[in-house]
Amino acid sequence: MSVSPSVVTRFAPSPTGYLHIGGARTALFSYLYAKRHGGKYLLRIEDTDLERSSEDAVKAIFEGLDWLGLPSDVEPVFQTQRFDRYKEVIEQMLEAGTAYHCYCSKEELDAMRAAQMARKEKPRYDGRWRPEPGKILPERPEGVRPVVRFRNPQEGEVLVDDLIKGPISFQNTELDDLIIARGDGTPTYNFCVVVDDWDMGITHVIRGDDHVNNTPRQINILKALGAEPPAYAHVPMILGADGVKLSKRHGAVGVIEYRALGFLPEALLNYLVRLGWSHGDQELFSHAEMLEMFDITKVQKAPARFDMEKAIWVNHQYLKTADPLHVAPEFDWHLRRIGVDPAKGPALAVVIEQQRERCKTLVEMAEKSKFFFAELEGYNEKDAAKHLTADGAALLDELRARLEALPEWTALALHETVNGFAEGKGLGLGKVAQPIRVAIAGMAISPPIDQTLLLLGRERTLARLAAAVSYVRNKS
Ligand code: GLU
Repeated sequence: MSVSPSVVTRFAPSPTGYLHIGGARTALFSYLYAKRHGGKYLLRIEDTDLERSSEDAVKAIFEGLDWLGLPSDVEPVFQTQRFDRYKEVIEQMLEAGTAYHCYCSKEELDAMRAAQMARKEKPRYDGRWRPEPGKILPERPEGVRPVVRFRNPQEGEVLVDDLIKGPISFQNTELDDLIIARGDGTPTYNFCVVVDDWDMGITHVIRGDDHVNNTPRQINILKALGAEPPAYAHVPMILGADGVKLSKRHGAVGVIEYRALGFLPEALLNYLVRLGWSHGDQELFSHAEMLEMFDITKVQKAPARFDMEKAIWVNHQYLKTADPLHVAPEFDWHLRRIGVDPAKGPALAVVIEQQRERCKTLVEMAEKSKFFFAELEGYNEKDAAKHLTADGAALLDELRARLEALPEWTALALHETVNGFAEGKGLGLGKVAQPIRVAIAGMAISPPIDQTLLLLGRERTLARLAAAVSYVRNKS
């Protein structure tokens, strides 16, 4: 691990909705890059667009980041709390002449634009209020509150040596004088980002590549402020399986939706780190490995495609190998979500251990484990038709009597009883185990039968076997 304590990254979401899976990946990359270099990872909430931002969205972002385990190293910065600072910098720039007042009305700007379009020119601010030595500015109109524009250099180019995309150059002639404060004094988006990145000491800006075109503007403003621009890494977007930008149309896009789908946060992070980045053929990375191996400069230039099947595969690998005690709180959350009281059954870690081979998600695990905690709501129709037959009921009735007579309810005793019973009948274990499963779990899937009986407990097992026998008899 190379340590340069000066690395400071940030994740800067706009709170206009849930935490998008692409945002989560950007946060992860920023986090890993900072941590790998012994630096700091900060969070900034870009909430200056008061119309589109909401408290609920801020909460959703924190909830998503907390669940993923990517909270900020220090208290998050909220842009809405920094208006005084933005105003101060604007004043300084006006004084230094790197910014100026522009009194153009909307009508004037519209006319300017229309004329340029008519001449087949690219619409841009023509600099009419830009002070130049010897230039006479128009007369200030009465009662107009001017905007403040940044005095962008008119010559030369801005070279962005992007850590992912490589060098990208922008001609200054392509950039007009950006409005940095509106007529009412409120600062604009790109300007706030610049002041924040500067004040927060950001050394590496890792963000979505929808911001590439903002970068030369931001660099120019930073330079005008006498600040050293950070390094930039623009991460390509995530596409759906159909090659179109990932959106609601493709299904889940919010991080918390992945929780609801039964993902473990570590598994989702693992899937995300591999989305557009690789280290040989390795698919699974422990947290320590991610920290050691992740390299922002090796992120692919091309957009990555989200592959749900693979994400679920990764999740299954994590479920199978994670410490069940670590998975238990998340499993608890899922059980409650489907109306099951996790206290009314066996220890969760034990259930997890028994179920995880056959459950790829926690949703599946919760559904398949419900019967350990709550009374059966009925039988799976197909399974009941196949296994809860007159013959099946006769077996269950006899077996129930044997189980009831057991002096102790242990895995060994249960194993011997069920196996011995099947053997005595000259039947394969499945012929006996399947009707038992349907009777006690409501479906023909459960962990090994002795374990299932053990975890379900004597009372529930005997009652359910009896109920299944009555069910068959009432049916005929
Ligand atoms: N707030 C921007 C977004 O959510 C990110 C800006 C940045 O990282 O510079 O897309």
